[in-house]
Amino acid sequence: MNIVWAVATHQGRIRTNNEDSVFPASSGRSGEPTVLMVADGMGGHAAGEIASRLAIAAAGRDASDPAERVTAANLAIIEHARTDPGLAGMGTTLTLTEFDPEGSFRFAHVGDSRAYLIHAGDLLQLTVDHTVMAEYLRTGSISPEEVATHPQRSMLTRALGLLPDVEVDAFDVPVAPGDRLLLCSDGVSSMLSEEEIRLQLARPSPEEAAWGLVDEANRAGGHDNITAVVIDVVATPR
Ligand code: MG
Repeated sequence: MNIVWAVATHQGRIRTNNEDSVFPASSGRSGEPTVLMVADGMGGHAAGEIASRLAIAAAGRDASDPAERVTAANLAIIEHARTDPGLAGMGTTLTLTEFDPEGSFRFAHVGDSRAYLIHAGDLLQLTVDHTVMAEYLRTGSISPEEVATHPQRSMLTRALGLLPDVEVDAFDVPVAPGDRLLLCSDGVSSMLSEEEIRLQLARPSPEEAAWGLVDEANRAGGHDNITAVVIDVVATPR
C-alpha cells in the first residue's frame, strides 16, 4: 500500500505565533515506512514552539518503534530545558503514526492532539485525550455541554517534557485502500464538531480536506493554532 498526505498548519486568528509543529513539513507520497506527526507545544514566550519542534526532531530519529520515538522526544525536551532555566516547564503533546506499507499504522500518543480514521464514511476517533475534561467525562462528573466553557478545559493530564517517565498510548490500526486518516491539534477539534470534521474530510483530495479544516476552524473563531495532516491510503501503483 501507498499513502498520499497533505499538511496544513496556521497560527489561527488570536495567537501571534504558531506553537504547533508538524512532520513531514510538506505534502507528499510514499510506499515506504513513513512517520507522520503533530505536536502542540505549551509554555511561556517561545517555549511552546521550542518544545514541539524538539519533540518532532527527536521523534524523527531512528527508533525501534513508535512508543520509543515518543519517549525519546520526552527526554530531549527535558534535557534542553535543563540547559536554559527560561524554558523550564515547557511541554508538548505528540501524536505520531508510522505507516507500514503491509497495511497498517502504528500509533504512539501523549496529550490532546488527535488521530481519526475515516472508514466507509464513518469517523472514528482513534486517540484518547489526556485531559482533565476527558477524565471527568469518563467518570460522568460533567456533561459534554459543560466541557466547552469549563475553566480547566485545556488542562492536560499527560504531556511530554514534564517528567522523565511518561506513559505512552501505543496501538496499531489496520487499514485498506480508500481509508483516510487525520492527525490534528486541538485547534481543529476544539473549534469544530465531529460532523464538521467529517464534512471536511469528505472533500476529494487530502490537500482540500486539510486546508478545509484549517479554513473552517478559522471561520469558527480560530482561537488556537490549527494543524491538520490528512493521509489517504491508496493501492500500490503497478
Ligand atoms: Mg492547541
